[in-house]
Amino acid sequence: MTGNSSPAAMRYDTGGSDGVEGCAGDGNAGEEDGMQVAAVLGERRGGGVEKPDPRPQEEFVVVKVHSAPMCTEYTAFMNGSVTDGLGHEAAGEVVSVDRSDRVRIGDRVVVMPQYPCGHCFLCEAGDYIHCEHNRDIKSIMGESAATATMAQYLVKPDALLVPIPDGMSYDHASMACCGLGPTFGALWLMDAGPGETVLIVGLGPVGLGGVVNAVHRGCRVIGVDREPYRLELARALGADAVVTAGELKENVEQIRDLTGGRGADLAIKCTAAPGAERLAIEATRRKGQVSFIGWGGEISVNTIISKGLRLHGAWHYNLSDAPELRAL
Ligand SMILES: [Zn+2]
Ligand SMILES: [Zn+2]
Repeated sequence: MTGNSSPAAMRYDTGGSDGVEGCAGDGNAGEEDGMQVAAVLGERRGGGVEKPDPRPQEEFVVVKVHSAPMCTEYTAFMNGSVTDGLGHEAAGEVVSVDRSDRVRIGDRVVVMPQYPCGHCFLCEAGDYIHCEHNRDIKSIMGESAATATMAQYLVKPDALLVPIPDGMSYDHASMACCGLGPTFGALWLMDAGPGETVLIVGLGPVGLGGVVNAVHRGCRVIGVDREPYRLELARALGADAVVTAGELKENVEQIRDLTGGRGADLAIKCTAAPGAERLAIEATRRKGQVSFIGWGGEISVNTIISKGLRLHGAWHYNLSDAPELRAL
């Protein structure tokens, strides 16, 4: 997951609002019914392919997808990487349950990424995203292992389904995944507070979510991206200043000029763009903090030592903070 993604969501009109139609395992659907799953069929060529309807099994419940935000999936479309396994986050409705003491049919839920073990110290602490024992769901569920979220239906362990409050739309609720989640986690790790300057490198959906989170915390925000459209969006969301990504030294000077010559207090790298990690580190003040969300890059240990920086790997947010994130 990186900030290099397009702000788009896919919706599936699957007919009746009961969500039962066409979903096997509910006791009503015919065996011949299948579901449509989004697929990349070639370079800039997409479509739908039919897959068997998933069935619930133990704590794995079936969710009808109403909204599936796009994260990095567009790169497969551009590159022609043929796949029908697109998407790792969604908002939808529980339509079929085997046994669960956490959710019921009809519950509206946010679907979190991954298939962690659910029992290790990380999972129990809400840090499931870092679980070392992700389950091979295909070996557990066979044909019912519907993991793509850009599909009509999927299966998910009930522990990774976060309730959606009444009155909140599915599109809005789906922002509680990669749209707002990773930067929420990063700012929490850095204990960002009012008056601090947060540099956000990369203003894709994840970085723009970072602007929302940082503004919400009362921080001053500087955003960096090379796309004018994204810079404008950052401004509209409350960024105090924006910088067009370009030559490293020049960008560092621009950011220092905007911070009284010191550099940003905190930085979040929200893109996989080459060199973004260096800009985040170089443009942060001495004794500052940097969080890495966008994958990739190399860092200089010497710079970390000489600047006295604190670094954080921030893949997502702790699940126990879901109510606080929802309130945002
Ligand atoms: Zn993502
Ligand atoms: Zn685990």
